[in-house]
Formats: sequence, structure tokens, C-alpha cells
Amino acid sequence: MRHFPIFLDTAGQRVIVAGGGEAALAKLRLLLKTEARLSVYAESPAPEIRTWAESGKLRLVERALAHGDALCAALVYAAAEDAAEDARIAAIGRAEGALVNIIDNLEDSAFITPAIVDRDPITVAIGTEGAAPVLARAIKADLEARLSPVLGALARAGKAFRGLAEALPMGRARRDFWAEYYDAAGPRAHEAGGEAALRPALDVLLGQHLARKPAPGRVDLVGAGPGDPELLTLRARRLLDTADVVIHDRLVSPEILELARREARLIAVGKEGFGPSTSQQDINALMVREARAGAQVVRLKSGDPGVFGRLDDEAEALDAAGLDWGVVPGITAASAATASIRQSLTKRGRNGSVRLLTGHDMKGFAEQDWRGLAAPGAVAAIYMGKRAARFVQGRLLMHGAAPDTPVTVVENASRADQRVIAARLSGLPQTLEGVTGPAVLLLGLAPRAAEQTLEDLQEALS
Ligand code: SAH
Repeated sequence: MRHFPIFLDTAGQRVIVAGGGEAALAKLRLLLKTEARLSVYAESPAPEIRTWAESGKLRLVERALAHGDALCAALVYAAAEDAAEDARIAAIGRAEGALVNIIDNLEDSAFITPAIVDRDPITVAIGTEGAAPVLARAIKADLEARLSPVLGALARAGKAFRGLAEALPMGRARRDFWAEYYDAAGPRAHEAGGEAALRPALDVLLGQHLARKPAPGRVDLVGAGPGDPELLTLRARRLLDTADVVIHDRLVSPEILELARREARLIAVGKEGFGPSTSQQDINALMVREARAGAQVVRLKSGDPGVFGRLDDEAEALDAAGLDWGVVPGITAASAATASIRQSLTKRGRNGSVRLLTGHDMKGFAEQDWRGLAAPGAVAAIYMGKRAARFVQGRLLMHGAAPDTPVTVVENASRADQRVIAARLSGLPQTLEGVTGPAVLLLGLAPRAAEQTLEDLQEALS
């Protein structure tokens, strides 16, 4: 981010526009909305500028900007629409301590003016660092359509009422009050009686909220999917948007944590393969403590919470504490990994069932139905299988699996750094040597393209 967005307090500040043509007019239309003291320097100003000057909206000096004119100015806009003249204006502005913007010259400007959606006091600023003005206009049009024209009036009345709303306890109770005001009660009152109806509506609503019992805490065990935020469910997104506390595994990607409500507390309770970890008991205790204190808790787990996610341990703890809880499914690593190689987990005529296995369990390497897994056409997704690869390979070969059975390793499925390695059972442990991220091993599946080439080859040879 080269340009950092901030909102400048213009009240009483000097702002200079040097130039009197179209470029100056466009900026002045925006600047006239502010509380700045505007000065325009132009040898031949457009008629609108004269009119504004006559009605006292700005000060007009009918000559080019000269040394000394920009002293004490906060901003100088060089809007002469002539490169040499703009450079001269900019040099004066800089020398006299102002921030300078040269219209249509991003490189030499100290700041840029964003596209603005104005619902004063709510202002949305859109910037693209000069990369895509067309996009800025499209985003502006989209927001203009989306944001109610009365939003400004609602916010003004809301601002005046903030002190009274402090009668509600900070946190959820107060947030719920404001959410209901902006979503429903406010717009309804405005429609019925205009801006004057907002204050009475706020009084009534506050009375209702003061009489409410606080909402009890709750825990949702939410699947975050394999990492790509686009693979979150809508419900997961909504819960993240309203959570007070998000207790997450280390495997949950930063892009997804970004979506949590800004005020939410994020607590990492890593259980990282063999690395440092928070005990299950501590995690359970933490969830219970937060929910008992009234928090809406999202327990965010990678993939699907019901696949190697210790869901039952947590469910039992929540039940034992008598708390309200629910499960939100997510896309499990096996689904994401198979999708990445454009394969299907089950296939008519190949495998009518699929197994999700773990390479190791609490007691060490996990025993499985090796005979079934070694059968031709069997498909399994092996989680946490990196360290167990040699063990799995040995067991499968011992039970008659073909050494050239395809195994596809998908590391960081769905993430930007996803890696797909097509291997054979015979070379599995070697294949896994450089794999450091979370990986799922797809036994019995080759990437579709590779499979196709192999089939073509076999056909050609036969
Ligand atoms: N509940 C999760 C699994 C948790 S166990 C799910 O449904 O996906 C952790 C294991 O999941 C990792 O060791 C790895 O085998 C697998 N895994 C999780 N995220 C992954 C990803 N993005 N790509 C590949 N494997 C992943």
C-alpha cells in the first residue's frame, strides 16, 4: 500500500487550487463540501468560480500563484493543466510546507484525491493508486446504489445519541442496539417522519434494549475450509462477522482470520502436527469460559470440524457445561485436494466408497483395513500422513497393493502456494521429503491429466 488513506480535518485549514479550468472546477466541486478556507489562483477563472467567489464560498485571486501565496496552506492543488506551470506551482507549494497534488500526475503528487461516496458524516473513499480509475468509478457506482441516501441523516442523529446509548453495557448489547437502529428502526422512522422522527425512535429503541435480558453465550464449531476464503460457507462468514471471540487452529489461513469482526478477539490454540500445542482440555475450558461470560464464540477449525477435528471432545465439554452450541460444516482437505487435480472422490466402476484416514492417531501410527485399501481401485485420503508415509507404504505393499498404485500428494490445497506431486506408492516416502506444509495423500488417484496420458500410452502399446 503506497498511499495510506486518512481523513484530513479541513475545518479552518487553507486549501489552495491553482488553476481556473475544468480540472480546477472538478476539484472545487469536491472541496466546496468541506469546511476548508478555499483560495483559487487563476488568471482567467471559469464563470462558476467567479460565482462561488461572489457568494463568499471561496477567495479568488486573479493571477498565477506566486511565492508566499501558499504559506500556511495545508493542501495545494496544481490544476493549471500545463505541465511546466503545474511544476512551478508544485515547487512553490512544497517550498512553503503544503502537501501538493498535481492533477493527473500521480508520481509527483504527495497525495491523491480518492473517489468519494458522500453520506456525510459517513464518507467512503476509494483509491486504486492510479491503477484503475475505471474500477474506482464502478465501485463508487456500486456503493452509491447500495448505501441508502438517508444514511447521513441516520448517522447524524446517531452521533448525537451516542452519550445516551452508553446506558447500555459496552460490547454486544450496545452493538445490537446500533445494528437495529441502522438496519431497521432508523430507516423505518425516517421513512415515516423524516429526520425529525429519528430522535424519538432512538429513545423508544433504547428503552426496549435496556429492558432486554443479555443474550446468552454460544459456541459454533465452524469449518474454515482448506484455506481459500472463497471456500468458506456463507454461514461461516456470517458467524465470523458477528463473533466476539474466535478460537482458531494454527492451520486456519490468515486471509480467513481477516474476515473476523474487527473487534473480535482472536485466540490461536495451535495444534500443529508435532509442534507446540494447547491441550484439548485447555481449549475446552477456554470455550466454556468465554461462552459462560456471554460471548458468541466461533471455534474455527481448518477443513470440516467433523473430520479429524476433535469435534466430539469439544461437543462433550460444551454439553457438560450446559451451553448452546452448533456445528457448521466446511470443505475438508480431501475434497479440496481432489478438486485441485480435477478428480472425483468416488467413481462408478472404480470405487463405490472412499475412506478418510489418519496417518497417525493418539497412540502412534494408525492401523487400518489394509487389505481393503490395497485392493485395486481403492481410494483413500490420508490426513496427517507425512511422517507415517513409510509405515503406510509398507503395510499396503504387504497386503498386496501394486507398487505403481498412484498416490497424489496435495500440499496447501486451495492456497496460493498449493503444490501437487503425482507419485507412485513405490516412491511415496521419497516424494514427501520436501513437503513442509499441510498435505493430504490421495491414494488411488492421479491427477486427471497424468491419468489421461497413462491411459493413452497403454492404449498405444496394446
Ligand atoms: N479438519 C481438517 C483436518 C484437520 S487434521 C479437514 O477437514 O481438512 C490436519 C490435517 O489436515 C493436515 O495434517 C493435513 O493432512 C490436512 N490438511 C488440512 N488443511 C490442508 C490443506 N490446505 N491442504 C492439504 N492438507 C490439509
